[in-house]
Amino acid sequence: MTLTTQILMAMVAGAALGVLIHLTAADIAFVQSAIVDGVFEVVGAMFVSALKMMVVPLVFVSLVGGVTALGDLRTLGRVGGKAVLFYLATTAVAISIALSLAVLTAPGEGFQSTAPMAEIELKAPPALEQVLIDLVPSNPVAAMASGSMLQVIVFALLFGVAVSAAGEGGRHVLNFFNDLNAVIMRMVDLVMKLAPIGVFALIAKTFATQGADVLSPLLGYFLVVIGALLVHSLGTYSAVLYLLGRLDPRVFYAKLRSVLAFAFSTASSNATIPVTLKATEERLGVSNSVAAFTVPLGATINMDGTAIMQGVATVFIAQVYSVDLSLADYLTVILTATLASIGTAGVPGVGLIMLAMVLGQVGLPVEGIALIIGVDRLLDMLRTATNVMGDCMVTCLVAKSEGALDEAIYYDKQAGVTRSAAVPARADV
Ligand code: ASP
Repeated sequence: MTLTTQILMAMVAGAALGVLIHLTAADIAFVQSAIVDGVFEVVGAMFVSALKMMVVPLVFVSLVGGVTALGDLRTLGRVGGKAVLFYLATTAVAISIALSLAVLTAPGEGFQSTAPMAEIELKAPPALEQVLIDLVPSNPVAAMASGSMLQVIVFALLFGVAVSAAGEGGRHVLNFFNDLNAVIMRMVDLVMKLAPIGVFALIAKTFATQGADVLSPLLGYFLVVIGALLVHSLGTYSAVLYLLGRLDPRVFYAKLRSVLAFAFSTASSNATIPVTLKATEERLGVSNSVAAFTVPLGATINMDGTAIMQGVATVFIAQVYSVDLSLADYLTVILTATLASIGTAGVPGVGLIMLAMVLGQVGLPVEGIALIIGVDRLLDMLRTATNVMGDCMVTCLVAKSEGALDEAIYYDKQAGVTRSAAVPARADV
């Protein structure tokens, strides 16, 4: 049995057990404290930490190798430029789909809030000047310690360029980094083997705590977000892959199943980076030189699913508060949500906080966020899957355009498949 099959089975089993606990044991204190907040919480959190543990070392080491393989600064600039352009363009398309669907279906018309208003904590969005200043780490160790992904990327890019320029000494460093990369990739393999257990615990905990009761008053909103996520993930991505990349989208979706399961259960693009990197390189055939750059960049700045939620939420809140949005407002929403997605870290729940910025731009009450907070965890899981899928799609596209996509691997069904019973380490590393 492949690992992906095991992970998918674990998801279904976790969801079933979670729902069962929610329906039958919600009032039994022992079940809540020992199982839901005990075993599920501990195992799930340990698993997410194990994934996060590898993010900074992997991004740094693999990006240094990737940059040196790209060769020169011009190629680096071209790859980066293409990636940023595709990331922003697909996000703008995503939010346009979301706005159109929400306007057409009007999920907020006649909505009566039954739930008590939740307390929300708002953070002012950082000023653009600060975002730019913060790109350059004044202390790379602090950047790594705090996991500031853009800063780690900037440091790794510079470091990689310097390795290329440093002649013989640089070659020694590069060899070491390439070996280290292989070692960390094997660590990813090891942690992935625990995924069925980790995913089971994460999903069971979520479903045990989130019942259908929070869903029913917000069903309209919930379904419109899901509809827009599906249209974008299946429609936009396959069209772009097929038309611009000349790649069969069915292969792409089939090979992403395990990545999507990770993104869904952790609700964090960031924590999923190790798995995304592995899948784009080993399953989809993208060369490390491109994936090492575009995957962490995408996990940090590309949030199509989040932008979709923000688009639907904006229209929903405007309808609930009976505010008419003008065409200029819609354009503002597209622009702000696209920019907000750059500033949204790939961790659970941030998309909702950044929504405050979008609402503020069009003069909608920020308290509106409290209306939708109840269903946000489930939507977070779904939109994170779309976010990560978008990262992989753009990565394939950029790689294809750079001649850095091995189509023999892309079309090989067995390429990079992890067998759950296999010996964890490869003999050759
Ligand atoms: N959880 C999302 C991600 O990690 C971000 C968000 O929408 O809150 O991609």
